[in-house]
Formats: sequence, C-alpha cells, structure tokens
Amino acid sequence: MRLLIMGAPGAGKGTQATSIASHYGIPAISTGDIFRANVKQRTELGRQVEAILSAGDYVPDELTEQIVADRLDQPDAAKGFLLDGFPRTMHQVTALDDYLAARGSQLDAVLVLDADPDDLVGRLLKRAQLEGRADDTEETIRHRMEVYLSDTAPLLAHYESAGLLAKVAALGTVEEVRERSVAALDRAVGRGTAVDVQ
Ligand code: AMP
Repeated sequence: MRLLIMGAPGAGKGTQATSIASHYGIPAISTGDIFRANVKQRTELGRQVEAILSAGDYVPDELTEQIVADRLDQPDAAKGFLLDGFPRTMHQVTALDDYLAARGSQLDAVLVLDADPDDLVGRLLKRAQLEGRADDTEETIRHRMEVYLSDTAPLLAHYESAGLLAKVAALGTVEEVRERSVAALDRAVGRGTAVDVQ
C-alpha cells in the first residue's frame, strides 16, 4: 500500500498516520517529524530549516523532495508507506509521481481528513498549550492555515481526478476517525474510485 494522508494543519494527520500505517504494516513517514528531529539534533539540515519551521513557511521543494526520496529508498518502505505532510506543493506532487513512476510504481490512495479550517485553528491553539511546539504561536498557526489553503488544498483536485481520493470527516474520537479512514482506504484501493465517507 502506497498512501498519502492529507488535510489542513490540526486535522489529526500525525495521530491517524501512525495508527493507520501500523494497521497496514507500513511505515508512517512524516516530513514535519523528520525536520523537527533534525532541528532538535542540530544537524546541518536542522540549521537550514529551523527558521522556516518557526515562521510556518514551507521548506524549499528540492530539499524536501530529496529528504523524502532518501527516506523512500530505505528498505522498510519498499513494500509500501504512508506519507504524512508530503506532498504540499504541485512541484512535490510531480516529484513524487516521477519518483514512483521511475520505479514502476504508483500511489494506491490519498486519504483526506476533512474539517472546517476555523475549528482546526481552535484545535491547534489547544495543542500548542499542551505540546509547546515552537511553530505553534497564534500568528504562526493562522499563517500555516493560510499557506495550506492557498498552496496545498488545491492539490486535492489533482488526486481527485486521478481517482485516488478517500475523503473522511476528521471530527470525532481518534478511534472513530481511524475506523472511518481504514474503511475508506480499503474501498478506495479495492475500487480505485473516489470515496466519500462522512
Ligand atoms: P507538519 O508537522 O507536517 O505540520 O510540518 C511542520 C513544518 O515542517 C511545516 O510547517 C513546514 O515548515 C515543514 N514541512 C513539512 N513538510 C513539508 C513539505 N512537504 N514541504 C515543505 N515544508 C514542509
């Protein structure tokens, strides 16, 4: 299974990604986690991206694409993966399609966690208090939502026309969203058509 999980900041992608990936026995690969780990460990990459993450902007495409290609080249991703937080731009969409096509492979489905952006801003403000993430000030949260809506939300149309979208409502308990997601993905993979489970 080669899967993406998409949705606005605060939709619960990280939590669902880990749980859904373990359901299918594939690694969950989060570009945000990779960048944050590098910042924490003070690597060269971490130094390059620290200010970008703090501002809530996007890391340059070529750099992000290289990080993902290196990660997908690891043996544990050979049979499948769930990408969380990538792709976020049309450039990244094309890079991923090209990476997979060069290996005779393609995506099986794109899970979308659907929620109202205003509700999500509230959820993120709460998470910022609990986790103390450096990129979670109110100003950054609003900026990240704007960047998502302008740069990333339009990518869903690309995957919809490819018949890959499995869209589920992001509201409810973690378990409810997980069950909904697995059901939608099973159907999307089985039928290869867009699925909308509310
Ligand atoms: P996330 O945990 O997915 O919200 O990512 C946290 C931050 O990492 C984002 O706000 C960006 O600064 C950066 N980032 C993560 N994934 C990408 C990506 N695919 N393209 C560019 N920047 C990214």
